[in-house]
Amino acid sequence: MINQQKQVGAAQETFDAINVPVHRASTILFANSKEFLDRRQRLYDGYSYGLYGTPTSRALEKAVADIEGGTRCVVVPSGLAALTHSLLAFCKTGDHVLAADCIYGSTRAFLQKALNDLGISVSFFPSDAGSIHDLIQARTKVVLLESPGYYTMEIQDIEPIAREAHAAGALVLIDNSWGFAASKMFDHGVDVCCTALSKYAAGHADLCMGAITVKDEGLFRRIKEFVSAIGAGVSSDDAYMALRGLATLETRLAEHARRGLSLSNWLLEQPGVERVLNPALVGDPYHERFKRYFSAGNGLVSVLFRNRSRKALTEMIDSLTVFRIGASWGSSHSLVALAEPAPTRSIDGWAPGEYVVRFHVGFERMDDLFSDIRGALDRLEHAPPPGHFSESLDLPVPIASASVN
Ligand SMILES: *Cc1c(COP(=O)(O)O)cnc(C)c1O
Repeated sequence: MINQQKQVGAAQETFDAINVPVHRASTILFANSKEFLDRRQRLYDGYSYGLYGTPTSRALEKAVADIEGGTRCVVVPSGLAALTHSLLAFCKTGDHVLAADCIYGSTRAFLQKALNDLGISVSFFPSDAGSIHDLIQARTKVVLLESPGYYTMEIQDIEPIAREAHAAGALVLIDNSWGFAASKMFDHGVDVCCTALSKYAAGHADLCMGAITVKDEGLFRRIKEFVSAIGAGVSSDDAYMALRGLATLETRLAEHARRGLSLSNWLLEQPGVERVLNPALVGDPYHERFKRYFSAGNGLVSVLFRNRSRKALTEMIDSLTVFRIGASWGSSHSLVALAEPAPTRSIDGWAPGEYVVRFHVGFERMDDLFSDIRGALDRLEHAPPPGHFSESLDLPVPIASASVN
């Protein structure tokens, strides 16, 4: 058998690629038995086994930690895994999690099913909260934020909430997928940032990955120990793809934000539009909090149409051709998705049957995007008004009332 290492060693002497190499590895070699027996000491910084880190994944973790304004990061196979693994690392039976009502639906499902089965209780606070003082319990271990809220774009007042959580001995976790590279959440009292790198970091809709970032070494060690104990890790090929995305992140994000504002302003002028939910927009109810906690917006724009019947909206969406229907966001493709907030909210007060449409603005020609939506809106204008249909899902519903302000 050929000794690959000797061959590579000779060939590498004059080779200095600008990018971090992809180090594919399960086995990592040790010089002697003592080092092998002591390999656990390498968990946090060194290399002992491919699952626990390679120079490629560590380079990504360092880059993400810098972007989030933290010191340490652990990458995991998805944004959802970043959230579930952090929660499992910090909570045990008997503990309580207090979460914003607007959290990502799969995070909510995990809280209500998996954590509940483990005897960890969960309750929710309003998505637009400025205080959680009256809701925090003696058993509350984690306060979970997500700003802006999933589909509905509420921004919590993070600093006072973090102060109250810390005073009660709880950790503050945030799902920072929206604000990645446009926020410094540790400056506002957040302890753990969970971010879906699947979105703008990867940037091309071809990768699932998540990151857990902290500023505190003790928290890092607990997360790293838990993530390695449960056997989660990322491949170096995927870590490389995420690193490649980071190289252009700032430039792409600025362009997505510019286009997101442009689409938002255009939508505001359209007759069928009731409200545009984009906190980067001057006049949005969360714009002041947006300015306090974020340095830039992005390409996500949610819309409440006047006609909110499911049938009219699905027909409108199905007639779009440039905006494609699909989950996730953050790539160069424009996407559209719709959601009914009510079933995944405990207290925010969305009416059943009330749908939110969310656009993600990609890098197609803006004129094509406008004319795509213009055609679909014409269709919506001519659709029967809400209340016309007899199906239960199309019952006429009042305008969004509770979730704003
Ligand atoms: C996409 C997303 C997630 C989940 O990330 P995956 O990598 O798809 O698991 C979690 N939270 C928010 C806010 C997201 O947008």
